[in-house]
Amino acid sequence: MSSQDGTAVRKRRMWLALVCFAVSAALFPARAMAKEAGTCTPGTTLRLSAPESSQGSLLLIEVKSAKPLAEVQGKWDGRSVPLWRDVASQTQRKGLVGVDLEKAPGEYELKVTGQTASGGKISCMARVTVRKGRFATEKLQVGKQFVEPSPEQITRADEERQKLRDIFDHVTPERLWDGKFRIPLDGVTSGSNFGRRRILNGNPGSPHGGVDLPGATGTPVHAAQRGRVVLAEELFFAGNTVVVDHGLGIYTLYGHLSEIDAKVGDALEAGAVLGKVGATGRVTGPHLHWGLTVEKARVNPLQLVTLLGNSSGKAARQKSSKTRKN
Ligand SMILES: [Zn+2]
Repeated sequence: MSSQDGTAVRKRRMWLALVCFAVSAALFPARAMAKEAGTCTPGTTLRLSAPESSQGSLLLIEVKSAKPLAEVQGKWDGRSVPLWRDVASQTQRKGLVGVDLEKAPGEYELKVTGQTASGGKISCMARVTVRKGRFATEKLQVGKQFVEPSPEQITRADEERQKLRDIFDHVTPERLWDGKFRIPLDGVTSGSNFGRRRILNGNPGSPHGGVDLPGATGTPVHAAQRGRVVLAEELFFAGNTVVVDHGLGIYTLYGHLSEIDAKVGDALEAGAVLGKVGATGRVTGPHLHWGLTVEKARVNPLQLVTLLGNSSGKAARQKSSKTRKN
């Protein structure tokens, strides 16, 4: 477990205003501009949920305009940033920047462009620093067949990886979710193992792309929000798996299920039961593997709950050491 994750979450909850038009800029002390001070066209502001990010994290951005907005697009390092309109606000857009678990640390340009209802152009630009994530390394002993798969198993795992990639490549242009995101298991407030580098039977494996949530076999697994089921099948590594498309490039994945209670094409309401906790696939004990992909970036799903979750201010914690590893 790492306390660094918790610190990162707390930092992320601190909104940093990037003050964009010159008149206001003069009213703020220099430190409020920080080093990533963005610049916007007059009358437009860009705010980020944290002054910088780290590998595997999510940033919430907010664009506000003095005039009603018609359309707005976001781009971060050449990748689009899903933006949506909250409630009935004509002048605001929100968006998520997903920083992949293995994105090279550095500075990346965030650019927002768009048009007001009256035809005026708006744009904002900011530089977002990505720090190296500090992930633990763990050593595991697992069944030999998982470390040295047969040629057939390698083919199968490769095909499944490609299938998931194809799913995540597709961006549903509508926002299918509506409201807050939740942790998929009742009563669970934290998860573990996100980003851990693994050494399986002495061989380095790929980083752990989700969080492991504690749960006994048979515990109902709830959809984190409303969405459409795009995968519901047994995978070599993740076992019985369900993937839900929430729209705008946001997908959640639920792995190692003992039972799948949804099928491809199902429209799930927020919180609908899509399966039961289990220990299928490459696993050492029952738990839920919960993954999140935002515009193809693998990010910590607990941050989605923190950023778009309950408004009681209770952020998801990430420091449980009790979760079993897979
Ligand atoms: Zn896992």
